[in-house]
Amino acid sequence: MRNLKKISILFLVMILALSLIACGEKAPETNEEENTTAGNVEVQEETYDVVVIGGGGAGLSAAIELKSLGADVVLLEKMPFLGGNTIISGGELNAPETWIQEKLGIEDSIEQYKEDTLKGGDNIADEALVDVLANKAREAVEWLRDEVKVSFREDYLMQFGGHSVPRAAYPQGGSGDELIGKLAQKAEELEIPIKKETKAEELLTDGEGRVNGVKAVDKDGNEITFHANKGVIIATGGFGANVEMRTKYNAEYDDRYMITVQPGSMGDGIIMAEKLGADLVDMEHIQTYPTCNPATGILSYVADTRFDGAILVNKEGQRFVEELDRRDVISKAILAQTDGMAYLVWDETIKENSQMHNFMDEFEQLVNQEMIIKADTLEEAAAFFDIDITELEKTIGRYNEYAEKGKDEEFNRRGDIIGLTKAPYYIQKVTPAIHHTMGGLKIDTEARVIDTNGNPIPGLYAAGEVTGGIHGANRLGGNAITDIVVFGRVAAQSIMK
Ligand code: ADP
Repeated sequence: MRNLKKISILFLVMILALSLIACGEKAPETNEEENTTAGNVEVQEETYDVVVIGGGGAGLSAAIELKSLGADVVLLEKMPFLGGNTIISGGELNAPETWIQEKLGIEDSIEQYKEDTLKGGDNIADEALVDVLANKAREAVEWLRDEVKVSFREDYLMQFGGHSVPRAAYPQGGSGDELIGKLAQKAEELEIPIKKETKAEELLTDGEGRVNGVKAVDKDGNEITFHANKGVIIATGGFGANVEMRTKYNAEYDDRYMITVQPGSMGDGIIMAEKLGADLVDMEHIQTYPTCNPATGILSYVADTRFDGAILVNKEGQRFVEELDRRDVISKAILAQTDGMAYLVWDETIKENSQMHNFMDEFEQLVNQEMIIKADTLEEAAAFFDIDITELEKTIGRYNEYAEKGKDEEFNRRGDIIGLTKAPYYIQKVTPAIHHTMGGLKIDTEARVIDTNGNPIPGLYAAGEVTGGIHGANRLGGNAITDIVVFGRVAAQSIMK
């Protein structure tokens, strides 16, 4: 399992590096002030209004908003590429009352979205933060469309598990590439200096405890002090790749689990801010994504056929969970099945109804890894994975009756129920992997980092997966991107107040 994990990480790094080459970023200018040499390493100092740590969706949104508000901003990214987990996500973001919902005739409201999000997180989220998320979501998706020029599908919205209606805007291609590519392009147009392979290691403070800079190290070991006249925004993402940190907060999530996240998700921002007395919330809540590639841990986008009609069965050929239930519910249910595996089954009608055509490269990889089978008969497909065909045929027979009646009498599947009747048939083997860390730095509605005494730490702001409190015990699909764009911009706006 560990070796497979390493292969998965290498694979991810390769994908990310290629994506960034495609983004065509160029080296930005710097505000270098002083360079001195200590031994073989240079000690440099640069001064800005604001330092943003982390070049995923939250950091880029914050930096772009800051620059638009007239700030002199620098962005630090420890990896050789931008994007973090945002670039390997599907890029979809929830928002109620958008122009797309209007076009599709979908009734929704800020209140309904808020209610779904709170309920989806087991009602332990910070309601004031969810209020900000829900109220600013529509503005966030419009900002991405109008200012950042992200291109969204106008005729389709996704309905992730736990949402009452379809409300996730879908970037062209269904990938975080579109989002990060356009954010990076906008940052370049605005001439925001982006320092890659520059790892923030320590937050600096003045004599009165105000955060006024960051100590970082570049790839050659040079130490750079970035002074920040107005403050620092932490946007370093989660800690899903840090096994020690995961098990510190929840012993369940040890190295038996593979990860969907990128290797930079080590919780650096949490560790740095904790040293200044930052409070942490909901750290024990760690999310697994239910349908990942059992060979690599990588989240499978082909398996998103689940949202468009595919059913989940076990090796015994039986359904065991509602396919559109929450990620945590489905993940736990899968782990309780034989070998901790599930099999997603769909037919040609569901394929045509789905977004699978966007992910044919992944499909081919899954075929080569023997993680998916396409066959002319259900029998042939089931035999490939040694699934009990007699039971599977009974299961599908019953399911097809539910499709005709329009009601799933066993698991009460929400949304449309589509019968599985048209060859070829597809069966994919899936298992859960660590996907998102709900906990993190406690922030207030202005994205100020709060200390253990309940007071804001002056000059310190945070946004994105590094924060806690927005998703409670469980993040609903499509809410991470809304979170990073909304709170990235909120952090920028409050720092400039
Ligand atoms: P979010 O969704 O909250 O934006 P991401 O995972 O997309 O989170 O992005 C976080 C980014 O922060 C990643 O690209 C990661 O490599 C970067 N990062 C993490 N720790 C540091 C650090 N110490 N210094 C600079 N960049 C960091």
